[in-house]
Amino acid sequence: MDHWPHTMQETEPAETDPPDFAAKIERSQVDLSYTGLPSALFAIMTNATVIVVAQWSVIRWEILLGWYLAMLALSVARYLNYRDYQNHGSSDSSSHIWKQRAITSSLISGVIWGSAAFLLVPLEHQFHQTIIIAALIGMAAGGVLTQAALLPASLGFLILVIIPLLARLFTLGGPANIGLGIMTGLFLVIMGTGALRIHRTIYQSLAMSEKQQHSRRIIEHLAYHDSLTNLPNRRLLYERLAKDIARSIHHSHIGALLFFDLDNFKTLNDSLGHQQGDKLLKQLAKRLTVCLRDEDTATRLGGDEFVLLLPELADAEKQAVELSEKTAKHIQESLSLPFLLGKNEFHLTASIGIALFPTHGDNADDLLKRADYAMYQAKATGRNTMRFYNPDMQEQANLLMTLEQGIRNALKHGELTLYYQPLVSIEERLVGVEALVRWWHPEKGLIDPNQFIPLVEQSGLIIQLGEQVLEQACLAITRLTESGLIDDDFKVSVNVSPLQFSAKDFVKDTINTVVTQDIDPNRLLLEVTENALLLNLRETVNKVDQLRQAGFSLAIDDFGTGQSSLAYIKELPIDIIKIDRILIKDINTQKADAIIVEGTVIMARKLGVKVVAEGVEDRETLEKLKSYGCHIVQGYHIGKPMTFERFMDYLQQRRSNENITLAFRQGDR
Ligand code: C2E
Ligand code: CA
Ligand code: CA
Repeated sequence: MDHWPHTMQETEPAETDPPDFAAKIERSQVDLSYTGLPSALFAIMTNATVIVVAQWSVIRWEILLGWYLAMLALSVARYLNYRDYQNHGSSDSSSHIWKQRAITSSLISGVIWGSAAFLLVPLEHQFHQTIIIAALIGMAAGGVLTQAALLPASLGFLILVIIPLLARLFTLGGPANIGLGIMTGLFLVIMGTGALRIHRTIYQSLAMSEKQQHSRRIIEHLAYHDSLTNLPNRRLLYERLAKDIARSIHHSHIGALLFFDLDNFKTLNDSLGHQQGDKLLKQLAKRLTVCLRDEDTATRLGGDEFVLLLPELADAEKQAVELSEKTAKHIQESLSLPFLLGKNEFHLTASIGIALFPTHGDNADDLLKRADYAMYQAKATGRNTMRFYNPDMQEQANLLMTLEQGIRNALKHGELTLYYQPLVSIEERLVGVEALVRWWHPEKGLIDPNQFIPLVEQSGLIIQLGEQVLEQACLAITRLTESGLIDDDFKVSVNVSPLQFSAKDFVKDTINTVVTQDIDPNRLLLEVTENALLLNLRETVNKVDQLRQAGFSLAIDDFGTGQSSLAYIKELPIDIIKIDRILIKDINTQKADAIIVEGTVIMARKLGVKVVAEGVEDRETLEKLKSYGCHIVQGYHIGKPMTFERFMDYLQQRRSNENITLAFRQGDR
């Protein structure tokens, strides 16, 4: 990665003094000292010519000509230097050279003018003496004013012109010259302090304007950048995108817009706190920009949404698709390396939606929306994926959005109900029931959770859903206990989503609910997936401890679908492992699955943890599980999820069957 994209180079202006403040001021000073130079040189040469003509009759011509030629040569040199400055002198780095040249030439000019006090002032001829004195005083004043931006130039010039003149006046002697000398001395003091004051004023106004420009730059920067990550924001994205679309149409190139959304950021942010979440986003922004070319732009739209603009990828669509896919993969790979916050490591994944331009849209609004649809689609197909936009997506995305609105309504109007699926022990005793949410849609009828839980998680509504589920499960517990149809160790399982589990107040809220509903926490089994528990192990151990102390039981759900290691279980006081249907369904045909399941049961037994096998659909599987020593089974073979009323009937029926069996047995005896 030898190139740094321009998003990184965009400087971050500090809020105090502008960067390179002194250098910038120096440049402006040098600039000022050069701006009036041609007219100053013109004045100098006019003055010199007048002097030569005026003194022609009293000073030897060789001296006059020599002096004049020296002045002319210097002026020509100064003019050439001026031209040079105009052409090349506009960079900060070289400004000290130009400053040196300006000061030196001004000092040489001072020496030549100063020499006039001796060379061009005749011993007699009061009138001719006065001409030179007046000319020198005038030159000194003019020099101080035009060179005031550079103090050494203006003060040096003044001193070099006036001191010889003073010396000359005092050596000439006589009351008139002595008087003039005293006045010239006074003039030197006044002009000197004046030079200082003008210089200071110029400096202050340059400094002020520099600071104002700097503030303006900061304001502009803030308007176009995200304050957290310092990446360009939506506004800058729109401007660049509009330009890039126009350019791609004009040059028939294809570019890409990557809409990028983190999969598990909400969970992390809620469990870690927003400050840590912000740190993570900053690290992420750095990684993103490293994955891009110089001409690409990474922008943050807000939250965990980022958009990457890759202009002019290729001429052919196929190639553009490949290149944008490559970038997306590169980003996903770079995210898969752990992020460090303090001592903790975190893993992020992202879903990426890609829209090509101008293929998928010729304006910024449409393109962004389409890349967003594609991202939505990527997210819906599973995390850490990417999708290119295609026109069908719009419809699907609209559906998803209506679905999200529908769920909001469902939560508000109580359209969510629970179904109950029995769990039986290996001796086929009923030991519990799993509460599974269903959505009674007013038009579409019953919708199963796989169709809406991922979306509910993504939108954050899962917390609300979880609360409603827990409340309904508590009501069920009350009714089941009152019915007298369940054993003392009978438990109702409730699924807890990762986002819910990692919420800061999860433990407190859960305890509150059972207290308010007057439920014995021993009746509740909380099912949490493995990845939710591993997100932040230390925090998890803490929560599990608190929940267990409060009397709840805990199960690891969907075991076998994630990292599936029992290693962490010795740290986690877990009651139950639920082996996922994926592993159970093929134990009769797939040797590997059978070995894993049997091994898990053996290890779990040694660790003192009970095992539930999910998705048991036939007698054969049940027998096999029994032979492994699996404690509890659940699945269509035992009973399908059913309404609460049906479940009550099921209980009644089991009880009467048991009674019949019991009667038979008693009859046998
Ligand atoms: P899960 O927790 O693994 O629940 C078991 C799923 O397997 C249920 O699907 C159940 O109907 C199904 N199942 C049970 N036995 C069999 C079987 O023998 N064969 C087959 N093919 N399937 C079987 P369901 O009810 O559609 O729930 C799907 C998932 O939705 C659940 O998987 C759970 O992760 C989630 N879910 C359900 N209710 C809730 C809830 O209240 N809160 C949260 N956060 N998630 C829930
Ligand atoms: Ca479950
Ligand atoms: Ca499960």
